Amino acid sequence: MKLSKDLGIDLGTANILIYASGKGIVTREPAVVAIDKTSGKLLQSGAEARMMLGRTPGNVAAVRPMRNGVVSDYELTVKMLREFLHRIDRFALVKPRVVISVPSSISEMEERAVIQAALEAGARRAYLIEEPLAAALGAGLDISGPSGHMVVDIGGGTTDVAVLSLSGVVKSEYLTILGQTAPGDGICLADYPVTISCENAIIRYLRRRYNVLVGAQTAETIKMTIGCVYERPETATMIAKGRDLKSGLPREVELRSEEMIQALRQDSQQIIDTVLSVLEDTPPELVNDIAESGIVLTGGGSLIWGMDRLVEEATGIVCSVADDAESCVALGIGKSLNWVGQMQEGTINLARKKLLSE
Ligand code: ADP
Ligand code: MG
Repeated sequence: MKLSKDLGIDLGTANILIYASGKGIVTREPAVVAIDKTSGKLLQSGAEARMMLGRTPGNVAAVRPMRNGVVSDYELTVKMLREFLHRIDRFALVKPRVVISVPSSISEMEERAVIQAALEAGARRAYLIEEPLAAALGAGLDISGPSGHMVVDIGGGTTDVAVLSLSGVVKSEYLTILGQTAPGDGICLADYPVTISCENAIIRYLRRRYNVLVGAQTAETIKMTIGCVYERPETATMIAKGRDLKSGLPREVELRSEEMIQALRQDSQQIIDTVLSVLEDTPPELVNDIAESGIVLTGGGSLIWGMDRLVEEATGIVCSVADDAESCVALGIGKSLNWVGQMQEGTINLARKKLLSE
């Protein structure tokens, strides 16, 4: 019997996914924790904590310890990781080795914070892999050859655009959409998960256009139901419930999908600008390769209606959403567990070199 597992962790801003060697994805939870503000004690984590976002009583805070794709609250990240690792194997005799994905342009200090958090949370050893590399592996792209590929991983407020070739990242840009939520009118900002960009844009839109305030969860439902960044062939509509900011009373508004294009234009334009900027900086030979192989979208954010078409229109390059887009990074880290024995701790570079030599 194997005493310990190797685990792959996709520590996203919105979700945390854990892949166990030999098993597959064993954890898929919102990266949210609820804490008691006075004692600092962790009350809930994952789906239960997410339910509390925007609904907490005075002494409880529901927060996302990962913000902008990096550890924004170290202590809480440790607590959250510990809880999830514990749920997977509370009777493990040997602590697991873990491989964690990090944004392509993370600083050394941020790298160290991720490693340290993993060790403190109960990992025996911790290794890092670049997120776009994991996303490409998980999307099933063959990036081992000299030909160039482009992967755009869109998460809940961050976008990692990368060109990959020879199992390495040739060019990349990391975009964080810092949603300035500012619902205003005495509403507690802390209850709004500021990094989930599209939600913030929808909240702002409803406030401006209808003078109605909706919560972050309603905004996400709107995004998933009628959200789009490109014209839909048929209009979709839905009724959203919020609070009228004048009367303070509940109010329903009927929303149409066309409005969403407008509401989400700024966010989607930032993603397009980043894709174009990376293409501009990419050597021409590789751009030709990408024009032939197409652009692949991964991450939950790529599921919003029309994102592939928008990228296609802006670049003139065929674009597709990967199968199981939300799981690509976790599945890719899962693949990388096969060579964890040869990885070097505390660096992302060797994972790349090892891949290269295979
Ligand atoms: P992260 O890597 O930042 O944790 P994920 O890749 O897990 O993010 O994607 C989460 C984001 O994807 C959330 O903001 C969620 O609302 C969004 N998302 C998931 N499914 C859909 C969908 N069908 N339409 C639009 N957005 C979606
Ligand atoms: Mg992600």
